Amino acid sequence: TDEALIAFDTLTDRASNLVQPTLRLGVTGLSRAGKTVFITALVHNLMHGGRLPMFEAAHSGRLARAALEPQPDDAVPRFQYEDHAAKLISERLWPDSTRAISELRLVIEYESASGWNRFFSGGRLCLDIVDYPGEWLLDLPLLGQDFAAFSLNATSLARSSARTDLATPWLEKAGSIDPHKPADETQARELARLYTDYLRACKADERALSTLPPGRFLMPGDLDGSPALTFAPLPNLPDTPAPAGSLMAMMERRFESYKSVVVKPFFREHVARLDRQIVLIDAMQAMNAGREAVIDLERALADVLSCFRPGRSNFITNLVSRRIDKVLIAATKADHLHHESHDRLEAIARRVVERASARIGSSGANIEVLAMAAVRATREAIARQDGEDLPVIVGTPLEGERIAGETFDGKRKTAIFPGDLPQNPDSFFEAVDSTSQAMPHDINIVRFRPPLIEETDSGVKLSLPHIRLDRALDYLLGDRLA
Ligand code: GDP
Repeated sequence: TDEALIAFDTLTDRASNLVQPTLRLGVTGLSRAGKTVFITALVHNLMHGGRLPMFEAAHSGRLARAALEPQPDDAVPRFQYEDHAAKLISERLWPDSTRAISELRLVIEYESASGWNRFFSGGRLCLDIVDYPGEWLLDLPLLGQDFAAFSLNATSLARSSARTDLATPWLEKAGSIDPHKPADETQARELARLYTDYLRACKADERALSTLPPGRFLMPGDLDGSPALTFAPLPNLPDTPAPAGSLMAMMERRFESYKSVVVKPFFREHVARLDRQIVLIDAMQAMNAGREAVIDLERALADVLSCFRPGRSNFITNLVSRRIDKVLIAATKADHLHHESHDRLEAIARRVVERASARIGSSGANIEVLAMAAVRATREAIARQDGEDLPVIVGTPLEGERIAGETFDGKRKTAIFPGDLPQNPDSFFEAVDSTSQAMPHDINIVRFRPPLIEETDSGVKLSLPHIRLDRALDYLLGDRLA
């Protein structure tokens, strides 16, 4: 059974943990939240003596060495750190984003502050970083649904005001089909395609919506085109059972395969073996997109947190949460803001997390919240305009980026006024919850190139600059390097 398999994995991990202290850190977040950039920056800073004043082990000089070693799981693709780092640092371009699961082992040698640890671990921690799409986590609720419930939920979400125009092609086609008619592969493929197009549009659109299961429709990994992914919810399902050979029976069967061949093994083999988890969220993008996107982010976060919540009847979440003892929710890309707004971003992210926890009746214990930029692409300055001092950020916009009618070439620096975040999270969420109140004004989000890494006089490259990456490391690893 799944339960026995997870228990066995846990035992095996515990046994190897005795020989070799290991921490399995999950890194997730919806696509483009910043997972690839975060892992690359984390590894680079640890390997190259980054400036990490709030990471006690580094600050006190106890980190001796960090080096990559072969990962323990041969069947999982390796996180291509060298390629990503080269692109980020040498080319000053953002690396390719996460498309599927990958893993990387970083071995950290440290001088233990306690004699006990020094004796038992020899001051060596294997950090196994597991990178995977947040979309896949959002499939967990599907395990508790049958095809009828899944279809009902998907249809009512698609008919909600924020989505209905994007869902129309799928809804119209699906509505015109009699689910009891004989199954037809071409029809199944067309429905799956229209449904996927609708999910993709919700994400790509300036609406920036987050809750879009089934997760593999947007992030198929290596399953693209397989029958387990060639299904779609059916609106207006009759109450009567599906006749053998009907379209409805085919969709039902494939939905069940999706759960048993795709979703369950993913949780069992990967999520259930994590010790700690960081979830990256692009809160600013959601805030800019407006009320629906903020509420949708909150809903997605509730689904994500319910995977890690302790004491649930669902055996998978039960086993996952028994092992994960710390979760960090990090609002990324804080370098788009002047530092005066970093605490405001953190306060708003904390409120989103509280609201998400409340949705699922969780206390939020063992959850920490942070505003962070894994890679800081900007610096701050003061600009004088009309006799007033304005806090601005300065960076090199990506090639092709347009600001106020001007197109940038990727070489020239510019200063922009990023705008302020609301000072009071209460009033921000009042606006979110009321349908009449206007949402606060936009933040000016410019896509900048990664920073130029400075060299010292002796030609040594400095490490990647960041904002509060050290606090994230201290929370996630600090106690294991004590
Ligand atoms: P993933 O899909 O979660 O792997 O997302 P990526 O790590 O590929 O990040 C997506 C994009 O977000 C990048 O191409 C960058 O444009 C931007 N980004 C991610 N992290 C940062 C950051 O710390 N600072 C800035 N300025 N941009 C970032």
